[in-house]
Order: sequence, then structure tokens, then C-alpha cells
Amino acid sequence: MSILGRDTKKCPRCEAKCLQGQLKCPVCGLIFSRVEQATNQAAWERLKNNEKEAVLYVKQVPKDKKKWKLILYTVLLGLVGGEYFYVRRWQRGLFYILGFILLFASVIFNSYLIGVWDGNLINVFAFFIGIYGIAWIMDIINVCLGKFKIPVSLPKEQENDL
Ligand SMILES: [Zn+2]
Repeated sequence: MSILGRDTKKCPRCEAKCLQGQLKCPVCGLIFSRVEQATNQAAWERLKNNEKEAVLYVKQVPKDKKKWKLILYTVLLGLVGGEYFYVRRWQRGLFYILGFILLFASVIFNSYLIGVWDGNLINVFAFFIGIYGIAWIMDIINVCLGKFKIPVSLPKEQENDL
């Protein structure tokens, strides 16, 4: 991306276009070096204390997480929301667990349900499993392209917020 041939970046908070060398977002005032210091662990502490406003969801992998691990979790454990649990977006992860239970149940009870419901309930299952499968594939694409959002924050003892 560039404006008039100069390299630009997007502000991780407000998505405003900023020049690569800028230290602070001219729109929302975010200081970019603070984002470099922010960790997923700190975000977890903040979320546990219900301090949602101190947490920022960014596309860059924070220093306490590894991109290759994120990719591995998505590919190997994506059907149970592994990547969401890895970055502590556990509420989203629970939806994947639910999807997995549904998938598992539909496989086990397949013939029984077809017998009883003449295929109708299986269609409902197939619809959910379809959405769930697409969500998984989208996650793999997003993680590989660096578009997966990860909650980060600064440790509380630093006494300043993002
Ligand atoms: Zn901004």
C-alpha cells in the first residue's frame, strides 16, 4: 500500500491509513510502539478483570505468541477452535466446540435420524456443519494472510493504556 509512492500502514485500532514512519496515529492517537510492547497475556488479565476497553484486537502477532504455532493450531485443532483458545478468544472457541459436538453427533446418529425424520433433521445438521466448515477454512486463510485478530494489552503495572 502506498500514498503518493510512500509506504503506508493501517492503524491497528481505527484502521486509518498512516505513513510507515509515523509514531502515532493522527486520527485516534494510538502510539504504535506501545502496540509492539502489548501482549496477549496482558489482554487475558484485562479481560478477566472485565477491562474490555483496555484490550485492542490487532492483526499482528504479539511478541508472546508465535505465528507458526497459530497456523499449526488452526490447521490441526481448528475444528475445535484451537486457534481461538491459543489467543484466548475462548468465547468464540466454544462455538467451534459446539460445532464439533454437532458434527460428531450427526455422524453417530446419522442412520437413526434419517430413519426417524426422513432426512429433515439431517438437512438442518448439514446446514450448521456447512457454516462451521466454511468458518474453519476462512480461519486458515485469515491466519495465513495475517488477518486473524488477536487481543492484546499492556501489563497493568505499566500504568498506561494502549
Ligand atoms: Zn488510529
